Amino acid sequence: MPTSITIIGCGIIGATIAYELSCSNECKIDVYDSQQPAQAATGAALGVLMGIISQKVKGRAWNFRKESITRYQSLIPELEKITKSKIPHNSQGIVKILSSEDDLAKWEQLVATRTEQEWQLELWNARKLNAQLPQINRQFTGTAVYSPQDLQVDPVALTNALVAAAKKNGVKFHFDQSIESITAENPLSCDIFTPDRSTITSEWVIVTAGLGSTSLLAPHAPIEIQPVLGQAFQIRLPQPLGNPDFQPVIVSDDVNIVPCGGNDYWIGATVEFAIDGVMKAEAEHLDKIKQIAIDICPDLAQGEIIRTWQGLRPRPNHRPAPVIDRVGTNKRVLVATGHYRNGILLAPATARIIGDMLSG
Ligand SMILES: Cc1cc2nc3c(=O)[nH]c(=O)nc-3n(C[C@H](O)[C@H](O)[C@H](O)COP(=O)(O)OP(=O)(O)OC[C@H]3O[C@@H](n4cnc5c(N)ncnc54)[C@H](O)[C@@H]3O)c2cc1C
Repeated sequence: MPTSITIIGCGIIGATIAYELSCSNECKIDVYDSQQPAQAATGAALGVLMGIISQKVKGRAWNFRKESITRYQSLIPELEKITKSKIPHNSQGIVKILSSEDDLAKWEQLVATRTEQEWQLELWNARKLNAQLPQINRQFTGTAVYSPQDLQVDPVALTNALVAAAKKNGVKFHFDQSIESITAENPLSCDIFTPDRSTITSEWVIVTAGLGSTSLLAPHAPIEIQPVLGQAFQIRLPQPLGNPDFQPVIVSDDVNIVPCGGNDYWIGATVEFAIDGVMKAEAEHLDKIKQIAIDICPDLAQGEIIRTWQGLRPRPNHRPAPVIDRVGTNKRVLVATGHYRNGILLAPATARIIGDMLSG
């Protein structure tokens, strides 16, 4: 069993690892972040957990999703009990509206596979969709997929709850404390340096620094994490869309309509890459997702946009997301980063894998 672990980065990934390790380890755990928790990608996320509804059916990608959705079913109530505070989440599932470009046969196959795997997934015709969700445009005559076991969670509230619960288990958090570099020559420990050259010695280091991971890891491994911008907005309506008692997340054309309490909805997110090395949020991309959302739920046109925001997703270059690995001369630097569009979804499985790596 390790005696000391240092985690660098307190977004959803670092916070989940800290909490899960603190439940099963007696060792000293310290978490450093150059900001307060959940400020970077995690602070911008919509928290939509597309596990069962994803097209992944086998291998690592499916196992990660399945394991994470299963863990979320117990993790959220567990954290609410420990912290005695509510974590806003939506357990009414996800409805994906299929377009004429979607391959219906592929979705029928997915429903059959999930049934064999003992998960629920339903295909709805337009009549069923309109009966369940009267807010959907009446012109819609296609098919929708309903995934009742997928969910959505407020990523900031979740991260803060993980931090609070980990603190109760003895984890020490050091916010507004940047880490500059890591050395891993000593066979039994790593040295971690702050910008003022203070040194922290730890048996293991776990790098969960999102976009900050590339420079921290550069001396040990070339792990390039590239930013992909996402814009989103919150819209306030005079009354809830459709039936107030059935408010699942609605997804259409990669745009999520996320009920977030009262008459408010989060809508997002754009997917914008840097052009000639320049990353700039374009208003026209935000307008486009607004139009897609209104096309599917016309009542959204009556809403008032009360907040817009943007964030940078950490996407690995030239390798699949996420990057979970062991690097450094002494192999005591663990990496869990580059979760791109699914970091909130994949945090529980990531924490389990890191736990397994530590216990050999
Ligand atoms: C608009 C938008 C919508 C999204 N929606 C969803 C969604 O619906 N579902 C989903 O699953 N995912 C979603 N994502 C993706 C998700 O947000 C990310 O995959 C996830 O938050 C990554 O978490 P992380 O902890 O790895 O990184 P981050 O949240 O970026 O955290 C990294 C942390 O490391 C710290 N750090 C960096 N460098 C250093 C250093 N040198 N020293 C100390 N600290 C450092 C940073 O301050 C930061 O707090 C969305 C992302 C965006 C932008």
